[in-house]
Amino acid sequence: MSLYARAARHAWRMLGALALAVLLVVAVDRLYGHSSFAFAAAIMLLLVANAPMLRFNCPQCGKNAFFRGPFVVPWPNRSCTRCGHDLDRPHPSQNR
Ligand SMILES: [Zn+2]
Repeated sequence: MSLYARAARHAWRMLGALALAVLLVVAVDRLYGHSSFAFAAAIMLLLVANAPMLRFNCPQCGKNAFFRGPFVVPWPNRSCTRCGHDLDRPHPSQNR
C-alpha cells in the first residue's frame, strides 16, 4: 500500500475520531450540563488519535505528507510538496 493510501486511511480515522469527540462533548453537555472536562477529554482523544500522522513522511526527503509548506492540512498530499516524490506509488519492498 502506498504512503498516500495509508495516510488517507489515517485521515478517515481522524474524521471518525473527530465525530466521536464532538458527540462526546455534546452528549456530556446534554446529560450533565457544560463541562470543560469533557472538552479536555475530547481534545486529548484527538491528539492521541492523530499521533500516527507524524509517521507519514516522504521516503525521499522526510517531509510530512500532511504539510503543505508550513500548513497542516487534514488530507495527505498525493505527491511530496518539497521534492515532488510520488507518494501514491506503492513502496518497492511491498511489491515483491
Ligand atoms: Zn519529498
